[in-house]
Amino acid sequence: MSNVTAADLHRALQDAGVAAGADTAPYALAGAEPLAVALPATVEELSAAVAAASGLGAAVVPWGGGTRQGLGAPPASYDLALDLRGLDRIVAHEPADLTVTVQAGCTAVALRAALGRAWQWLPMDPPLPDRATIGGTLAAGSAGPLGTGFGLPREMVIGMRAVLADGTVVKSGGNVVKNVTGFALDRLHVGGLGTLGIIAEATFKIVPLPQKEATVIAAFASAEAAAAASAGVASLGLPMLSIELLNEAAWAKATEGLSILPEPVSAAAVQPVNPDAQEGLGDERTWHLVARAAGRPVSVSRSVDAWAAACQSHGGAAAWLQDAESAALAGSVADLGWHDGPPDLAVRISVPMSRGAAVLGVLADARLAASLSVTRGVVRAAWAGDAMPDDASSYLNELRERVAGLGGTVVVESRTPIDSVDPWGPPGDGFEVMRGLKEQYDPQRILNPGRFLGGL
Ligand SMILES: Cc1cc2nc3c(=O)[nH]c(=O)nc-3n(C[C@H](O)[C@H](O)[C@H](O)COP(=O)(O)OP(=O)(O)OC[C@H]3O[C@@H](n4cnc5c(N)ncnc54)[C@H](O)[C@@H]3O)c2cc1C
Repeated sequence: MSNVTAADLHRALQDAGVAAGADTAPYALAGAEPLAVALPATVEELSAAVAAASGLGAAVVPWGGGTRQGLGAPPASYDLALDLRGLDRIVAHEPADLTVTVQAGCTAVALRAALGRAWQWLPMDPPLPDRATIGGTLAAGSAGPLGTGFGLPREMVIGMRAVLADGTVVKSGGNVVKNVTGFALDRLHVGGLGTLGIIAEATFKIVPLPQKEATVIAAFASAEAAAAASAGVASLGLPMLSIELLNEAAWAKATEGLSILPEPVSAAAVQPVNPDAQEGLGDERTWHLVARAAGRPVSVSRSVDAWAAACQSHGGAAAWLQDAESAALAGSVADLGWHDGPPDLAVRISVPMSRGAAVLGVLADARLAASLSVTRGVVRAAWAGDAMPDDASSYLNELRERVAGLGGTVVVESRTPIDSVDPWGPPGDGFEVMRGLKEQYDPQRILNPGRFLGGL
């Protein structure tokens, strides 16, 4: 614990020329409120605020939209909340170069709207995109369903400005797609949860918006049959945006309130790929494969046909949605369990790809709404039971044991209360390297202290 006071912090922020927020309550974490809130509006002010905190040895927690503050352990100490939503500018958008530079506090929805005007797109799909900021999304570092088509967020970043623990602003990478000079230090901050530096600005390579999109939905009686159908089409190498396999609870959650999909799935918007084989979609079968394709109309229709044929040959009933309806279902699957805010319990499970169907089997009776990214072996799951178990820790330990038996790991992405369970599980082999990086980058331990793996 530092001995800093609210008065010290307010004086230091004033001297640094940084505005302070009046209300600390919205920034409470695990019942602890910060002593002060800084509201920087420029990178220079952000740097000055961090330098001021560093001078006092005050612990800083960066805040974007707050949607993912449940990720990681509660901070070991917490003096200053650094609200980055004032840094919300699009610094440069070069449509001809397919690059954009954006400040950390810009929301995913605002960036989507700005790029959409040039018919372009940054293919990341964080839940609650109207609140999730670009900085927080990078700091949290996990990918949603679009990770299948475009990889992890770190693969889209080509440059970054970050503020280190002493307030120094560092720049890495650049604003051109082909950039091979120096080390890619920006990658440290993607997924680093703000423990090694504060992301101030990021430059991304972006892509054109597709002319057309469509989603094939197929219902199966078992996860194995759905996985076999996926494996059948994966070998064709069709470019897909996402391929998600949802258990029964996940399908119910993803389609809840989605007027395009009344039960059973037979709305006018949904075209049966083969009317004879469509019977039963959405009722007695319990596993839904949702595969999304985008691109030129001819390649989308080729993908839809191939997926539908493979699903039907494995006993699945298939139908498809296109354009706005397809995108609406994709948004709902990306938001799985997060529609109304962070769920009481959300976990990310990673297993070897070959064990994907087996891990869904583990989850089938586990009161979790779960969606497997089939070609990545990553499951996003949110609590779907009526009430959380009294002993969430034992529930989670048991889940970790079963997943470890398949060679996988479980990370808790959200839970209520935030200090109720161990979010990370045992640190793996690379932990000593991480500890060394933390010592070098943040020797005073003022940046989100204690939140990362192993209490870093
Ligand atoms: C189901 C699911 C799907 C997801 N899909 C995707 C996806 O497709 N693509 C993707 O990229 N991410 C995805 N995410 C993660 C996504 O990163 C979060 O939704 C996002 O982080 C929320 O941003 P926020 O502004 O609310 O961050 P906050 O909750 O405010 O912050 C998150 C963490 O980052 C720290 N932080 C905030 N801003 C900064 C900053 N500027 N610099 C350093 N540290 C900072 C905070 O202190 C906190 O520890 C997904 C998450 C889930 C659970």
